[in-house]
Amino acid sequence: MVRAAHIATLFALIACAQAAVAQPYGMPLKNEVEIADVDRIENWTGKTIMIFTPHPDDDTFSMGGTMARLAEKGNKVIIVIYTNDNKGSKDLTMTRERLAQIRRAEEEEACKILGIPKENITWLGYEDGDLEYADPQRLRGEVCRLIKIHRPDAIFSPDPGDTWEQWHKTDHRMAAFMTKDSFIAAEWHLYYPQHLLDEGLKPFSVPLAFYYYSAEPNYEIDITSKFEAKIKASAAHVSQFEPSLSKYSPENPKAVYDGIYKNFAAKSLKTTGKGKSTAKNKVYVERFRREVAP
Ligand SMILES: [Zn+2]
Repeated sequence: MVRAAHIATLFALIACAQAAVAQPYGMPLKNEVEIADVDRIENWTGKTIMIFTPHPDDDTFSMGGTMARLAEKGNKVIIVIYTNDNKGSKDLTMTRERLAQIRRAEEEEACKILGIPKENITWLGYEDGDLEYADPQRLRGEVCRLIKIHRPDAIFSPDPGDTWEQWHKTDHRMAAFMTKDSFIAAEWHLYYPQHLLDEGLKPFSVPLAFYYYSAEPNYEIDITSKFEAKIKASAAHVSQFEPSLSKYSPENPKAVYDGIYKNFAAKSLKTTGKGKSTAKNKVYVERFRREVAP
């Protein structure tokens, strides 16, 4: 999306997406929360998960490995995408309409690679870069309604911060706060009474939230088994990487794949245990800030 305006390289692009992660993945996790094995994401089965993403790629880039692990274990993964991402191209022949179609197809392909059917994707369809100019009361009502419909066991969204506010670039900022504001509205039937009166949708309290793009992650998941799937899914967003960013030409996906692999391998690699670093004690991880009953 608008990210492309000042970023020319593949590597800088991903660096921008992860800029909010202040703590390098190679370091041990500070403030890690102790969680019983049965409650860890890795062991979830049969749960309903909602993932809120500002653009069709923030989900894959930030938590593609987690998405694949959740899908593999029979959890229902629902993705809600705030914008249509129709402005992130430097190709002067590109139009907003065409780019929106390309971005939709790329997201569907990425989700397919991660084991999530396109029927599980909800597009809210707001204009790329303009989410902050949407009617907030209407937008909150839309998100609140979806939460009441799906009644998730957990949600994932960009980190709005806790006792502090976390800075994000445009669209991410609005998405971070809007998702959380919508939880609160979903708890109380009088916020949007028509949901109950017209559709029979009862209020719902979100029990658990995981925030990605977090400056203060406290939860880590080993995605080593799904790392390759994450890279393939990320590479499906070919329009967001050079050479297609400047001139849409999705012919050489291997080059995109290789570039993403190198970048993510450096960013998400963690060495575990003590002693000499070997292939056996290296894992790939994704990190979140976990919040109970947000
Ligand atoms: Zn984004």
